[in-house]
Amino acid sequence: MFDGLMNPGRQGSSIQRALQSVRRHLGMEVAYVSRFENGLSVFREVDAPGLEALIKPGDSRPLEDVYCLHILAGRLPELIPDTAAEPICQAMPITAQVPIGAHVSVPIRLEDGTPYGMFCCLSPFPNASLNPRDLQVMRVFADMAAHEITREVAEAEALRLKRAELRQVIDGGLFSPRYQPIHTLNPAALVGFEALCRFTPEPYRSPDQWFGVAHDAGLGEELEIAVIREAVKALALLPSRCFVSVNASPPVILGGGLPEAFQGLDPKRLVLEVTEHAQVADYGALRDALAPIRATGVRLAIDDAGAGYSSMQHILQLRPDIIKLDMGLVRDVDSDPAKRALAAALCFFGQETGAQIVAEGIETPAERAALEALGVCKGQGYLLGRPVEMAAAVALAG
Ligand code: C2E
Ligand code: MG
Ligand code: MG
Repeated sequence: MFDGLMNPGRQGSSIQRALQSVRRHLGMEVAYVSRFENGLSVFREVDAPGLEALIKPGDSRPLEDVYCLHILAGRLPELIPDTAAEPICQAMPITAQVPIGAHVSVPIRLEDGTPYGMFCCLSPFPNASLNPRDLQVMRVFADMAAHEITREVAEAEALRLKRAELRQVIDGGLFSPRYQPIHTLNPAALVGFEALCRFTPEPYRSPDQWFGVAHDAGLGEELEIAVIREAVKALALLPSRCFVSVNASPPVILGGGLPEAFQGLDPKRLVLEVTEHAQVADYGALRDALAPIRATGVRLAIDDAGAGYSSMQHILQLRPDIIKLDMGLVRDVDSDPAKRALAAALCFFGQETGAQIVAEGIETPAERAALEALGVCKGQGYLLGRPVEMAAAVALAG
């Protein structure tokens, strides 16, 4: 049931520490937590110093060979100070094989009651001092382990569901691009579109949310590439004077799938927007991955400039062809002197470094006029046009 979702034996986990404490407390040689899986008892975490060759995380034994099922059914007690006193133990080959002299174990149940596995200590020697209070101590730790495992199982299940939904979205193409017009400000002319993705499943979730979930679930790159492949289809229908700007996060750029997605397209009509609000660990690698793409003539834009520290780092480190002023900076730029000063500084930076400035999210004529006065060359926003479906974009472009 939990096949493939668990990573057994995470060293340093609280379960690992609990095993060590209990094993030392009982003075036994081996402690482990197991899970039941397809008729096997699989060791997740093990604490058995010096006996790693005998038992280690990931090892498993058929359930019928070990004591677990007998203990769960009440045929064997949880506390066995001497296996020689238990005929069932004596009849089982594992007792002599390991060997097992003393055995203390408690079933781990998930919080909904489902049997999950065992919390267990064993020793090659009988241990007459083991008593019911030791068993109580083990129960306390097993309860803690059960709590942690329940949480882990719930998280794994949530991840499985997310991945299943994302697989449907990717394989079933449950998304489609919208195209938001980008205009030169003076003279006013439609010159291109930014492709912005919309996802079909209900309830509505913003593209940011979808891509965030996809990255958390390990499917971010695949989704972003699939979306870009769809978005660039507009190039064939739009007039050749129009470019299409696509969004990509640094992991996608580093993943190396973009050159193939751009194959056969006119690179001069493509803009690649780096969308990332987190810091980039290795700009050298990002520059290397971008170099062959930029060499073909694809222009590089940094999205959301002025929104935070990371966009400034991107600008300095990547030397883009285009800097997109964040909507937050554009809002009220006509009446807010601080925003105007920062926008002006970015325009100056653009002039000095040969980067064009594109303002995002222009909503009012006053914002547009203020940006134009600052020397911003292009803009997009609800004032100039909302994101529309491909057919409408083609009609707009004329
Ligand atoms: P972004 O790339 O900065 O896109 C601009 C966002 O502002 C879009 O939201 C757009 O619809 C919205 N917008 C445009 N003009 C205005 C305006 O005048 N006023 C207001 N209030 N909003 C405006 P959207 O489409 O929800 O996208 C949000 C973010 O999701 C994007 O920010 C981008 O980071 C990400 N995203 C969207 N589509 C894609 C995609 O295909 N791939 C990737 N990797 N990310 C995408
Ligand atoms: Mg963008
Ligand atoms: Mg933006």
